Amino acid sequence: MSTDEPKFGIHRPVTVALAGNPNSGKTTIFNALTGARQHVGNYPGVTVEKKEGHRSHKGLDIRFVDLPGTYSLTAYSVEEIIARNFLLHQQPDLVVHVIDASNLERNLYLSVQLMELGVPLLLAFNMSDVARQRGLIFDIPLLSQLLGAPIIPTVGSKSQGIDRLLDKVVEIVQTRAMPVYRYHYGTEVEQQIGRIVQQIDAHPDLARCYRPRWLAIKLLEQDREIRQEVQIESVLETAHNGIRHLETIYGDEAAIVLADQRYGFISGACQEAVKSTVESRHDVSDRIDAILTHRALGLPIFLGLMYAVFQLVFHLGEYPMNWLESSFHWLGGLVASTWPPDSNSILKSLLVDGIIGGVGGVLVFLPNIFLLFLAIAFLEDSGYMARAAFIMDRLMHKMGLHGKSFIPMLIGFGCSVPAIMATRILENRRSRLTTIMIIPLMSCGARFPIYALIIPAFFPEHMRGLILWGVYLIGIVLAVICARLLRKTLLKGQTVPFVMELPPYRMPTARGLWLHTRMRSWHYVKKAGTIILGISIVLWGLTSFPRPSAEQLEGLDGEQIQSALLRHSIAGRVGKTIEPAIRPLGFDWKIGTALIGAMAAKEVFVSQLGIVYSLGEVDEGSAVLRERLRADYTPLQGFCVMLFCLISAPCMATVAITRREAGAWKWALFQWAALTILAYGLTLIVFQIGSIISKI
Ligand code: GDP
Ligand code: MG
Repeated sequence: MSTDEPKFGIHRPVTVALAGNPNSGKTTIFNALTGARQHVGNYPGVTVEKKEGHRSHKGLDIRFVDLPGTYSLTAYSVEEIIARNFLLHQQPDLVVHVIDASNLERNLYLSVQLMELGVPLLLAFNMSDVARQRGLIFDIPLLSQLLGAPIIPTVGSKSQGIDRLLDKVVEIVQTRAMPVYRYHYGTEVEQQIGRIVQQIDAHPDLARCYRPRWLAIKLLEQDREIRQEVQIESVLETAHNGIRHLETIYGDEAAIVLADQRYGFISGACQEAVKSTVESRHDVSDRIDAILTHRALGLPIFLGLMYAVFQLVFHLGEYPMNWLESSFHWLGGLVASTWPPDSNSILKSLLVDGIIGGVGGVLVFLPNIFLLFLAIAFLEDSGYMARAAFIMDRLMHKMGLHGKSFIPMLIGFGCSVPAIMATRILENRRSRLTTIMIIPLMSCGARFPIYALIIPAFFPEHMRGLILWGVYLIGIVLAVICARLLRKTLLKGQTVPFVMELPPYRMPTARGLWLHTRMRSWHYVKKAGTIILGISIVLWGLTSFPRPSAEQLEGLDGEQIQSALLRHSIAGRVGKTIEPAIRPLGFDWKIGTALIGAMAAKEVFVSQLGIVYSLGEVDEGSAVLRERLRADYTPLQGFCVMLFCLISAPCMATVAITRREAGAWKWALFQWAALTILAYGLTLIVFQIGSIISKI
């Protein structure tokens, strides 16, 4: 028999749940444990759905579940309910509570609640590097004794302590060591708990489903969900009397009395077992924050940083972009050269114009996208993005939301789909719906290629960063205005007070940045190779067929042939049909067809223009797309295209996710239509006024 043979006859996979406060490093630990690559970010609320991964250790097959981050196990937010229901109903074999050890007292509040649930518990003191830097010294054996749970220090971001953690997991599961928690409330509270437990015990059905002590505590806290589930009059009555009794004695709500006592216990334990070598509470983070979140300076600094990011994206991105562009050009020429020069082959056109022109046109912006995501990842991982949310908090309050809504909005700069999912961190349904509605106004990564194509075509080098910055800013400002409108009309209601938490600043690790950036950039490449490729082929078909007869083309020169081909095609005809509607915005039928394509996915706008302008191109390599654009349109038209693409019709994926998260088609359709109408109206105003001004 090998030594790896499981002992004690455990053959089924065991389930280990990771619980913890947001931003305590749960996902990092989860990734280190399972080798998965889940999204990690230095702000609360990144993990909203639970994730699963497997790992075998010492012959034990372990299923790890990364629960959403929570500060407590009440039933106030979606995350809390998800986490709590999992713990209650799936009954994991062990819960690893990932604790931010540099913030021990606050984190232990959740530990106490986990103990009350009666789950076997293992504490991972993560961020122990940060704790050490802050001069905190833990008496681990004593703390472990006081809390009644084993403790393993870890540094998730450096994968330190992970093996010890795994060893301990296996040990606890195999020995089935049940914890002995030593935490008790004061006599008065314990008496009331005892009374309720007695009543519960009289109902075996109930006592079988829940741990009676936990149930009693939740009833004293007037937990909504639990009160609905326990419908036994005698139990509810006893709980009610208990609550009244505690209120008369303490002069405060029972829930608050219980919370106070938990905090008292935690603070006592920490006084015993945690020593601090640093006296001052003002650490570096606080000093940086004094400037970065300053009342007057905060917003200008945020805007300045954004500006710097866009400058960087353009300036550094230009070189690799040019290389890619020439590579695609070269590839197009190479493929084309396998046919005789004046061949009219359909296959040649599909390959050169449709695929290389369409997908290549999108792919050349990969370096810019990479830099943009790298910069965002840096701001996220360093902890600055959470400050940005904090700064925006004041503004958000004015629009009837709070800073917490800004987190999904920030994610929206990458992609609206995860951003809309991230709105689950909002407790209030109306705030959540409002946030979902305005997220598409946060300019996502897919819209970036449109700007990257148009801005350099029409604007001088020194203005490029500024224009890009302006476009993003217009999106944010519109989002603020729309949110305010929604909160005053359709989605009227109170905002829940919320204290924004600021994570400490951290130097982002190269590995973290790389993972982040690679994941998102790869997503872009994948999308180009699948969705964009598919749509490009369809659009190429629509732009190439039907073909005019030879007689119709007789006597025309190159340029004229191209435009005759386009006019005759389905896309050309559709474009012509809608042209009267979009002409007041400064758009012609070519832009019109590209806009229709962009409804499926925003990048298609770029690929469609690539197709239109490379079709029937006589002289390979003579004109790059931007030169053609410059010849055909004015800077005002260019700007209007960007404005329209920024605001209008969210892509199909966004429509689908809005439908799912808002729970009804009507919201998805409302969002789609309202944004498109808004885009039309604003672009109309800008183009008309702009045309008048430019004539003067
Ligand atoms: P979650 O919200 O609990 O899932 O937290 P994440 O796993 O997303 O981590 C939040 C941030 O903390 C990320 O920037 C991690 O790179 C960082 N982090 C995680 N563990 C440690 C650690 O032990 N030490 C330090 N210094 N940073 C960590
Ligand atoms: Mg997470």
